[in-house]
Amino acid sequence: MKKIASVCPYCGAGCKLNLVVENNSIIRAEAADGVTNQGTLCLKGFYGWDFLNDTRLLTPRLTQPMIRYHKGDKFTPVTWEEAIRYTASKLKAIKEQHGPRSIMTTGSSRGTGNETNYVMQKFARGVLNTNNVDCCARVCHGPSVAGLQETLGNGAMSNSINDIENSKCLLVFGYNCADSHPIVARRVLKARQNGAKIIVCDPRRIETARIADQHLQLNNGSNMALVNAFGYVLLEEELYDKNYVARFADGLDAYRQTVNDYAPEKVEHLTGVSARDVRQAMRTFAAAPSATVMWGMGVTQFGQAVDVVKGLSSLALLTGNLGRPAVGVGPVRGQNNVQGACDMGVLPNMFPGYQDVTDAAVRTKFADAWGINVNDMDDQVGTRITEVPHLALEGKIKAYYIMGEDPLQTEADLGLVRRGFEALDFVVVQDIFMTKTAEVADVLLPATSWGEHGGVFTCADRGFQRFGKAIEASGNVKRDWEIISLLASAMGYPMHYDSNQQIWDEMRDLCPLFFGVTYEKMGEMGHIQWPCPTLDHPGTPYLYKDNQFDTPNGKGQLFAAEWRAPAEVPDADYPLVLCTVREVGHYSCRSMTGNCAALQSLADEPGRVQMNPVDAHALGVSDGQLVWVRSRRGKVITRANISERINAGAVYMTYQWWIGACNELTQDNLDPTSKTPETKYCAVQLEAIDDQ
Ligand code: SF4
Repeated sequence: MKKIASVCPYCGAGCKLNLVVENNSIIRAEAADGVTNQGTLCLKGFYGWDFLNDTRLLTPRLTQPMIRYHKGDKFTPVTWEEAIRYTASKLKAIKEQHGPRSIMTTGSSRGTGNETNYVMQKFARGVLNTNNVDCCARVCHGPSVAGLQETLGNGAMSNSINDIENSKCLLVFGYNCADSHPIVARRVLKARQNGAKIIVCDPRRIETARIADQHLQLNNGSNMALVNAFGYVLLEEELYDKNYVARFADGLDAYRQTVNDYAPEKVEHLTGVSARDVRQAMRTFAAAPSATVMWGMGVTQFGQAVDVVKGLSSLALLTGNLGRPAVGVGPVRGQNNVQGACDMGVLPNMFPGYQDVTDAAVRTKFADAWGINVNDMDDQVGTRITEVPHLALEGKIKAYYIMGEDPLQTEADLGLVRRGFEALDFVVVQDIFMTKTAEVADVLLPATSWGEHGGVFTCADRGFQRFGKAIEASGNVKRDWEIISLLASAMGYPMHYDSNQQIWDEMRDLCPLFFGVTYEKMGEMGHIQWPCPTLDHPGTPYLYKDNQFDTPNGKGQLFAAEWRAPAEVPDADYPLVLCTVREVGHYSCRSMTGNCAALQSLADEPGRVQMNPVDAHALGVSDGQLVWVRSRRGKVITRANISERINAGAVYMTYQWWIGACNELTQDNLDPTSKTPETKYCAVQLEAIDDQ
């Protein structure tokens, strides 16, 4: 029996665990004393590993390269040589005929690790010669990255997960940490025990609301109006830190002009929150000796998400809550390595280390290091994942190489996504399971899983952590970066790596932000937060020390915008708001957690529609009853889950359920900057099914 130090492959909390292995099988996971989790795990950490033992609950593991030579054919098992030859020749032909930008690629924010993401973006940029590489940050915290880069200079948490409990006030906005990051929720609870004031802004009575000093139960879709009202109160009641703003922030006059129209009394009809409560919340927030703003996808999955992120960071700026311990802005990233995928440049506008693809000097640096002609590199921002269906239907994207993503389950408006896929000439899926997307691929490239390889993840607070290989993979599978390297070589660019560390060191040499984060420094249990520019640098637990912001003029940028209504509002035909949410026992598209026996038995029907008793009574729906949920784009069948915690007029579903995926209903109104879809808001109707 042996114990292998690893990092949980689910959420961005970055919990360290030990995988206990016997006879090449994992027999249990034990909590380890990681910096963010300190000897505890949530149920996914404890029970989320047995898909590695092939429990075959939901869908089979991919164990053999396969090709579908003609549309409509079945998959044919092939050798790796044939899979690589065929894929390389198809990609090469499409590139030659339609140009590099006709091919889309993805990195993966899950178990594959930072090294693979680095290699994937190198393949896209250096071999395919396109910036068309993206990841699922696009559909979650893309707005946090875009918004914070503009207002403060870095698209990441400014603070540390383990410092949340030291803050004296937490403004928790659109963030259900008990379900999405249970170990972060523990920090919120500890902060409460340490005397912090907790202000929760959420339409539902989420778990954190139960321990909050104030729960502002805002109307769905009114985020910008409420954030502006907060700013109005800070200015009008002169609660803001005038000295701090004068020294360290820009844009106060324009900010004041915009929020002037958002007196809380004036926007009560929009926000649904009483002016008295809004004023009280800001008095508490401004009076706290230290305050932290935390948010989740209740902020980012809207068509006006980037504006709201900028507005939330303005609240921290106005009150001087940046640049020291126990304060800051905390967009808590969802998937375990979505921060890392962004760090490694699987973004259409950034090389690894957040270096701009439109900067000629940066392109030259990478071209020289990779031994390619800089003139072959793409100098324009590439395509985002959410743009692919539209561009495929227009004939501009012809091929899609998808690694560790499942867009046919996770993207908004699945009918649109399916039509986009049908228009593609060539789809390659590199994954560990036969996902919904894998089912429609032309080529399947089976990869090793978390547990079967090691590497580095970045958790939500910018902390790099190593995870180990616990078992040997069974089946005819390969490491992700080995598959990509074989493809690159077959396309005429010799690429060969011997180890994760070799890739990591190549990446470090090109990224000043990460240069000091060596494998040795991380060790088995280390957690090194970027920026870490030199070998003797210890890492950065909080950003913006001395209030030096990483913006062009070094100042924080205040920002407010007029509230915009969501794209599709309820009407007589579709009278309810549908909002997508999380389920504590399952993760993302459920391909991993759905194959874990313990998690499956705890939540065997994720995806029930949560609704208020008033709406249920009006529609004649009883708890557990089968219902149809319809939007203008599709319909799904599920069971009702009736709860007082749900606000009247809205219903909530997770997207993990494979039978009635709620993304059949959602719509892809994209934020104009981040191109993130508005999966938190669309109009639906609900009909009880007589199942007697
Ligand atoms: Fe920790 Fe998140 Fe894993 Fe739970 S799912 S053990 S909170 S990393």
